[in-house]
Amino acid sequence: MKMPEFKQSTKLHNVLYDIRGPLLEHAQRMEAEGHRILKLNIGNPAPFGFEAPDAILVDMIRNLPQAQGYSDSRGIFSARTAVSQYYQTRGIQTIGVDDIYLGNGVSELITLSLNALLNNGDQVLIPAPDYPLWTASVSLAGGTPVHYLNVEEEGWLPDLEDIEAKITPHTKGLVIINPNNPTGAVYPRHILEGMLEIARRHNLVVFSDEIYEKILYDDAVHFNTAALADDVLILTFSGLSKAYRVCGFRAGWLAISGPKHMASDYIEGINLLTNMRLCANVPAQHAIQTALGGYQSINDLILPGGRLKEQRDTAYRLLNEIPGVSCQQAMGAMYLFPKLDPEVYPIRDDEKFALELLKQQKMLVSQGTAFNWIAPDHFRLVTLPAVRDIEDAVGRIAEFLEDLRH
Ligand code: PLP
Repeated sequence: MKMPEFKQSTKLHNVLYDIRGPLLEHAQRMEAEGHRILKLNIGNPAPFGFEAPDAILVDMIRNLPQAQGYSDSRGIFSARTAVSQYYQTRGIQTIGVDDIYLGNGVSELITLSLNALLNNGDQVLIPAPDYPLWTASVSLAGGTPVHYLNVEEEGWLPDLEDIEAKITPHTKGLVIINPNNPTGAVYPRHILEGMLEIARRHNLVVFSDEIYEKILYDDAVHFNTAALADDVLILTFSGLSKAYRVCGFRAGWLAISGPKHMASDYIEGINLLTNMRLCANVPAQHAIQTALGGYQSINDLILPGGRLKEQRDTAYRLLNEIPGVSCQQAMGAMYLFPKLDPEVYPIRDDEKFALELLKQQKMLVSQGTAFNWIAPDHFRLVTLPAVRDIEDAVGRIAEFLEDLRH
């Protein structure tokens, strides 16, 4: 008799997270066969020789003996105080210690805060392209992701009219990713104020993902969304993964600002889910105070002569030299999101495109549709590899594309 199969929950039917999907599995199989794959698909600084500041490592090691037990569900007091003080220095006066929740990375807090808010069918406005965890988490929470456009020709800035046009009676939230992954856009003040005005008028919760807030290039200035409005409920997300290069420690936070008295039921829900996961990784919580209060070594990497800046500049220049490829410059974060002119490269399925690139050139990028982009004409490249590896990688892309043109 045939045994019945164990099936995944139907809750997962609309949940996609293709950055770590079939393409990566294929690359891992190729590696197991002995191929060396150049991986430009994941924003994880450590494997590219970016080390955490020593002070963070020393602090964590020193605190290990005190970090053996569970902490308060929201996180240790010293770390939450440091986050609260950090936001005060950024001009946000309404984030107290109790408005801060530490998580196993921002990722955990994204899913937690959406689960606490959404009923089946509630809609959340999310940028296209996006960091796909947002879309996946809205779907997992029973909500419906609705994508608003970021306009490439305008430096990938959000289209405020498109946001407004997509609001319905079911819209509950508006997601802002600034600096943006995958485009590298950093939003000017007037765009953020426009988004806040829409949220204010339609009574939306704003989810502001600012994990790249300290990775800025040239003259880019980052505005914390919460610094621009104290009458809108704003959940700000940030953490240590990127600017402090410790993705593996899983240290992130969520800070709630605005009219909290109007959100006590929602906040109770967040507290419940926070209690249910007991607490975030405690050793990493100890690193937060030192990270925020210590020497900000990220600046050495993004200023002229800094590794991250040089790699970004090289990738941008070389990509734009390829016929039929155009790429907006990233003003923040550590990605580029180039366009493949559909007249030159009529690609129907960009996952297949990325798979062919992987098979032929032994290198891995992520296809644009994995970021909920609307057409199969983009891909995302991580600008973390050293300049010589970027040159090698873009050279391989150019060679692959030349074959496609003929
Ligand atoms: N938000 C954005 C925009 C990201 O790019 C990432 C990771 O790449 C995350 C959140 C998740 O970060 P964490 O390591 O804190 O979970």
